[in-house]
Amino acid sequence: MGLPDLLGKDKSADKLPPLLHAAELIKSGKAKKVTVLAGAGISTSAGIPDFRSPGTGLYDNLQALDLPYPEAVFDVSYFEVRPEPFWTLAKDLYPGKYFPTPTHYFLALLQKYGVLQRVWTQNIDTLETAAGVPEKLVLEAHGSFRTAHCLRCSRPSSAEHVVSSGVRHGHVVRCSHNSCNGLVKPDIVFFGEGLPDDFFRLQRELRDCDLLIVLGTSLQVMPFAGLVNAVGSNVPRVLINREAVGPFERLKHNKSKGRDHLYKGDTDEAARIIARELGWEDELDKAIEEGHKELQKVWKEREGLLEPKGKKAAKGGDKKEETKKAETKKEAGQKGDTAKAGDVEPAAKDSKAAKADADADVDALADAVSKVEVSPKPKV
Ligand SMILES: [Zn+2]
Repeated sequence: MGLPDLLGKDKSADKLPPLLHAAELIKSGKAKKVTVLAGAGISTSAGIPDFRSPGTGLYDNLQALDLPYPEAVFDVSYFEVRPEPFWTLAKDLYPGKYFPTPTHYFLALLQKYGVLQRVWTQNIDTLETAAGVPEKLVLEAHGSFRTAHCLRCSRPSSAEHVVSSGVRHGHVVRCSHNSCNGLVKPDIVFFGEGLPDDFFRLQRELRDCDLLIVLGTSLQVMPFAGLVNAVGSNVPRVLINREAVGPFERLKHNKSKGRDHLYKGDTDEAARIIARELGWEDELDKAIEEGHKELQKVWKEREGLLEPKGKKAAKGGDKKEETKKAETKKEAGQKGDTAKAGDVEPAAKDSKAAKADADADVDALADAVSKVEVSPKPKV
């Protein structure tokens, strides 16, 4: 089998039954509607800073900004008065420089094989969709950076505008509509804001789920943590996490009890083991390799679109041509932060031009620009 090899020398095969059990349920066709609850642990290996934990580099950076308390950075009433710390943080978190992890690509494979009911994620990094899980199957319980709105006029703000006028340099983003100039805020759920309606609307489908996989979450933040109890009372639940948490705490010293199973460890490692059991491992590797290449292309394209002539390129049919040109141009100074200061001015002018256009057009561009999606298509 070779599974112990896969686990490395200091791990033992007796950890495996919970994963083998999950794989068996899928392989046998008993699990056809797999629901996944995901937390920060699935994005750690992507390099996304753990901004919720004081003591991490990110919070240390924020200290310099004189926050009254670290969480103030996600407090909507604080943001309205002092949005600067949030945008400083956003510079490090904004999608477009982190690759999805093997775990994310495993979720996409569950969908490909028709057994994924939905991914409920607490993460705001959009890596599930970046890995190819269709947007309609991802419930971003705490919102995400995908879209943004003006707090004054409520109009959506295009990702292009957000990136070019603010995110690249950690600047505060303001509404570009006429003379509004209101504060723009990504649609991340801040403290003091409600969860998306879908979070409550879609919960009833959890009753139909036939396998619950909980990945990389401490199950501490309500109401998300409560989802674990929203599935039927006989539905198998598998927790893959570094610690036993929530209702799985009783498994601290066991791997399984009744319908509950615990794999203590890394989610990427576990995803690979399940994929291997299902005969999907090669496909997983291919998805990672091709997915990363595709994303690099999309990111370069975004850089291209943000160049002076980029707007026109997005409208026409010959976008590929323009992207190619942009790629060659940007090849040298590609890596995010190395973008030259000179890039900002033209891009800003460009977004002024954009606002004159019809909303649908801006939407189409935002779609292409923001979503790290493989095939940008106008969503009109
Ligand atoms: Zn506005």
